[in-house]
Amino acid sequence: MQEQVGKAPLATLTADDEARRLIEGLHQAAEAISGATSVHEICQSLAGHFNRLVRADRTVMYLVDQAQQAITLGVGAGHVTETDLQMTYAEFSSGISGLVVRSGQPALSLSADDGVEPEATRKRRIQANAGALIVAPLSVKGEVIGTVTTMNQVSQRPFTPQDVDALMTLATLAATAIQNVRLFEETQAANRVLARRALQLETSSQVGQQITSLLDLDALLTQVVHLIQTHFNYYFVGVWLVADQPEAVILRAGTGRTGDDLRGERLPMSTASIVVKVCQTGRPRMEADVRHALDYLPLAHLTEAQAELAWPLRSGEKIFGALDILSDQVGAFSADDQVLLQTLADQIAIAIRNAQLYKAEQHRRYLAEALEQAGRELISNLDLREVPRRILEQLATVTPYERSQLILLQGEELSVVSWRGFPDEWQGGGIAISESDTYRQVLESGRPVCVAEAAGMAGWAPGQGSAVNIAWLGVPLIVKDRVIGLIGMSRTEAVFTPQEVTLASTFAGQAAIALENARLYDETARFSELMERMVENRVTELHEAMNILERLDKTKSKFIEVAAHELRTPLTLVKGYGDMINAYPAAKDPEIQPLVQGILAGSTRLHEIINSMLDVAKIDSQTLNMRRAPVKLSKVIHPIVTGLEPALQERRLALTVTGLDDVPLMMADIALLHKAFWHLIVNAVKYTPDGGSITISGNVIASDPEEAAVEVVVRDTGIGIAPEHQKLIFEKFYQTGEVSMHSSGRTKFKGGGSGLGLSIVKGIVQAHGGQIWVESPGYDEAHCPGSQFHVLLPLALTV
Ligand code: ADP
Repeated sequence: MQEQVGKAPLATLTADDEARRLIEGLHQAAEAISGATSVHEICQSLAGHFNRLVRADRTVMYLVDQAQQAITLGVGAGHVTETDLQMTYAEFSSGISGLVVRSGQPALSLSADDGVEPEATRKRRIQANAGALIVAPLSVKGEVIGTVTTMNQVSQRPFTPQDVDALMTLATLAATAIQNVRLFEETQAANRVLARRALQLETSSQVGQQITSLLDLDALLTQVVHLIQTHFNYYFVGVWLVADQPEAVILRAGTGRTGDDLRGERLPMSTASIVVKVCQTGRPRMEADVRHALDYLPLAHLTEAQAELAWPLRSGEKIFGALDILSDQVGAFSADDQVLLQTLADQIAIAIRNAQLYKAEQHRRYLAEALEQAGRELISNLDLREVPRRILEQLATVTPYERSQLILLQGEELSVVSWRGFPDEWQGGGIAISESDTYRQVLESGRPVCVAEAAGMAGWAPGQGSAVNIAWLGVPLIVKDRVIGLIGMSRTEAVFTPQEVTLASTFAGQAAIALENARLYDETARFSELMERMVENRVTELHEAMNILERLDKTKSKFIEVAAHELRTPLTLVKGYGDMINAYPAAKDPEIQPLVQGILAGSTRLHEIINSMLDVAKIDSQTLNMRRAPVKLSKVIHPIVTGLEPALQERRLALTVTGLDDVPLMMADIALLHKAFWHLIVNAVKYTPDGGSITISGNVIASDPEEAAVEVVVRDTGIGIAPEHQKLIFEKFYQTGEVSMHSSGRTKFKGGGSGLGLSIVKGIVQAHGGQIWVESPGYDEAHCPGSQFHVLLPLALTV
């Protein structure tokens, strides 16, 4: 009993121990897998726990993908062999595992012969000397995701149903844990994808921002490559652009020091290179392993590159470069990377286009301004010696050059009139046109000629002071469709671009105008200088003539004075003796009387003439002795009229006097006024044919009392005066007709005169501060249009 009693608790204890061990084992397994993060790790750990839990010789865990009919994982613990682990899906499903997967129930086989194990794999168990075997399914929510197989050797302990239960408990735990880790892994993978997408989006948006804010192409590209590199940690990011002349692909920006060192690296289009290929074809290239790419071109300092991704930069159909990315890992680029690269490449392409357009626009504006400025500079100068020098100076601001010459066509010769950039000893000079075909080409075509290698051009003469191997550009100077010369310019490097040719030609147009303006100005200036000298000469001549005339006039005045004085004395004698003879009774003899009267009349007339000469002499020498006294004008005129009465009657002339009585008293020299009006009235009588009429009218003109004047008009119906004589008749000795034609009588029609009367009248009127002028339709003896002599005497002379 004791034994029994003793045995019983022992047996109970053993069963309890076993249960505790199982619980402990499960607990340990649960703890071990709770920290695991990968399916492989969890399975590896579980395999050991399964093994220990049922004290198996070995345990193998298989994870299967039933849809794919594949074993995705096989791990083992204990004495596992390679054969155990490398089970094919076919073997798996045809064996006992297949049964378990299909039924979802565990299988317990105590020996290879108990018929549980299907025929297909039974042999294998026998060969492996396996005895007991449990296969438990790993199921989650009714789906079997794998199996756990535990085995013991034939010699070892057979498994019990408790073992199966324990194994199933752990299998359930394991399946859930595996599924959780799987989900975690998937979530993480998804997160990674999302994170990368976010990064890509961020990069793309940052690139976008840079693009809108940066218009300087080099700064922009440098920013972009660095942005991509920092975000994705690539080995190298670079942007290559296609250059037109000569055709090549040039690295414009690259990351890191390598990028700085390699900037400007030029790959001719013939180079075997992935980048060049992409630029040529416009198709992107991805090389997972550059060692397999025949056209991979290893660049200096980029020795670690393993994979390359190059994407074309295009604007419409035009490919103008490539975005190039190198990784130091084989197969580094995913499909996602390609999508990102495409987006970035498109953005960069737009940015480059914009920056290029902006730069071109800026350049255009700069040039337009330079051209305008240069034009203004040229127009501001008109000095023919200065303008050519200025032209070359301004040309340099529009089209850079090293040497230039302004050459003008002078007859058959070309003459270098200005030059810049030549050695000091070079002195310009003439060039025979035949010497250079190129010059002739410019002159004859009237179009610019551009030579890339001047040394090779026909007729090129380096002796003209130009260096060899240079680019040369000749632009014509055209004025009114005529080529007047050319500007030649050269530089040792860089051919002249079409844009430069256009600019230089436009500038030459302005230069030609400036030259022409300067030439015209020079001509005009010379002409006006000549004219000025001529005028000066004429003025001097005139002055001299006037001096001579003045001297002559003075001599004449002097002669008149001397002659008058000299004549007066003998004349007085003649007249005195004449009067004495006349007093003799014998003189009453009818035959003698007319002779005596002739002598007396002649001497009287002579006396008059001599008096007139003396008056003129006084007027000329301004020694007219004025004796002013209150004068009534009618008192001056009436005696003259009365004195002329006989003549008027004889000649049947009607003389009317009007308005004179209304003229107020005025301060004047009555004797002089008498003399003046006497000459005027006698002239009216003399130049009016018999039967005509004479009117003397007086009229006060009083617009302003201070300036009031009396106007006396002596109007006749005589022969009139031609317009060309109307001023000159007031000069002394001036007579309009032939003197010999005059009749001799003082008051006879066209009677003789000395030509002194009107000059005396003018002298007297002017001495009184007045004016005199004549109005007449013209000279006509047949129709007698008449004359009107106007005398204006200021009334300020009024008492
Ligand atoms: P003359 O002694 O010749 O008259 P005057 O000086 O008085 O000299 O006049 C100059 C000239 O003016 C005259 O010769 C005459 O031709 C012209 N002349 C003067 N008065 C008249 C007139 N009333 N009608 C036409 N011709 C006149």
